[in-house]
Amino acid sequence: MDDTQRLRYSRHLLLNEFGEEAQERLLAARALVIGAGGLGSPALMYLAASGFGRIAICDGDRLDLTNLQRQIVHRHASVGMPKAASAAQTLRAINPDVQVEAIEERVEGERLASLVRAADVVLDCSDNFSTRHAINRACVASRRPLVSGAGVRFDGQVAVFDLRRDDAPCYHCLFAEDAAGDEDRCATLGVFAPLVGVIGTLQAAEAIKLIAGVGESLSGRLLLFDSLATHWHEVRLARDPQCRVCARERAAAA
Ligand SMILES: [Zn+2]
Repeated sequence: MDDTQRLRYSRHLLLNEFGEEAQERLLAARALVIGAGGLGSPALMYLAASGFGRIAICDGDRLDLTNLQRQIVHRHASVGMPKAASAAQTLRAINPDVQVEAIEERVEGERLASLVRAADVVLDCSDNFSTRHAINRACVASRRPLVSGAGVRFDGQVAVFDLRRDDAPCYHCLFAEDAAGDEDRCATLGVFAPLVGVIGTLQAAEAIKLIAGVGESLSGRLLLFDSLATHWHEVRLARDPQCRVCARERAAAA
């Protein structure tokens, strides 16, 4: 770290639990954030401000006027721009130290797998179940920690699947694929603006902790947030030994 970086990150360095080594780990790390929408906005901004060395942003959509009510990484003047490029522009303005890569496509298949392999932590900030399951499969296959968030109407949830660990459940252990009949309904439902801010911010906090090696992660727990009643609920998660996604991967690796 140079002197400017020591100043920039001084409020992290002052934390006993954090310090210089943890900050160095962030500076050396690469995050993959899928979705530059309501969840991705605060997540990306905190990852950039906190000093992640490299951030890859995937989003295949263009910015629409209806996005601006909650997708705070974007600016009014960017309406019509690819969201990945618009978000990248904001992140570079926040912290020029960060190498930002804008991927203006909905990634799947081998492209998604290689992006996940190249990342130290993956944040699922997407808005549909097929993408969520595809991200989970790629994270299970390359054993990358997955920080998953979701938010619609007034209800949000966040979970960490630390797939570096043998005992960690995966997203599919929790949500079977066939249960996801509501494909793309999110696009037509209302969303309370600060709800996705709270959830996306928690995703950033968990990603930073996982990489910095600080504190206890949310791994193995699901947090549910009712922003209408301002009520949090926590559920313990267990591996499904019959899980079609992670049981087979683990058996193949053993
Ligand atoms: Zn599983």
